[in-house]
Amino acid sequence: MAVELYNDGNHICLAFYDLVDELSDHAVQSNQFLIVDAGHGALIDPGGNMTHNGLLMGMQRWLNSRNLDYILASHADPDIIGSLNKWMVTTHCQVLISRLWTRFLPHFTSGRDYSERIVGIPDQGMLVPLGECKIKAVPAHFMHSEGNFQFYDPVSKILFSGDMGTSLIDHAQAAQPVTDFDAHVDFMAPFHKRYMVANKICRFWVRMVRELDVEMIVPQHGARFEGKAMVNRFLDWIENLPCGIDLMVQDNYRAP
Ligand code: FE
Repeated sequence: MAVELYNDGNHICLAFYDLVDELSDHAVQSNQFLIVDAGHGALIDPGGNMTHNGLLMGMQRWLNSRNLDYILASHADPDIIGSLNKWMVTTHCQVLISRLWTRFLPHFTSGRDYSERIVGIPDQGMLVPLGECKIKAVPAHFMHSEGNFQFYDPVSKILFSGDMGTSLIDHAQAAQPVTDFDAHVDFMAPFHKRYMVANKICRFWVRMVRELDVEMIVPQHGARFEGKAMVNRFLDWIENLPCGIDLMVQDNYRAP
């Protein structure tokens, strides 16, 4: 069932937490998002074939999928955009993704030329007009993908943070906001230490995010951070976390 993260009647943000089959302990839990503004819609990171049908059915109550303007993809991984071919066939949407990945996306499709519907986001990011608002595609390169974007919604003040803030927990826990940050660190630390490329880029990102007015950080896996106090707990934590190449040593590179 979808969780309403924000709803003022004209602008709605929805999160789907349970579309990866709860019995699928072989597949990582992942979240999908829908932003609706004045009857127009954007899906953020709709996922792979496991989530396509559930998301297509689940979204109709808020937006007819024929009115889907965009798929906004943080990067090109299977749990982000693996279902691309189905969305291309069943909707008229454009797909926005880093310019680094536009020519890789056709490998998710049947081979038909969808070039006119695949839009490359430049490295510095862009504004995405949606209904009466503008969603900001903000740079999040190397978090974890080389060409990576997050999506900031200035109406709800939600930052859809992709893999940043991920916690590896089941869908029932993921649907609840984080309440005990210190306990939550255990579910985040191993992922961030390996998937985030270096502390240097985390610090650049934190500096950018502190200049946005963020009420909620909503990652693509696991639970969200609600309210400025909890958002700041996360920013303070990731800003000081050694990760990725910071932790690599020669012993990680010895042939077996
Ligand atoms: Fe990924």
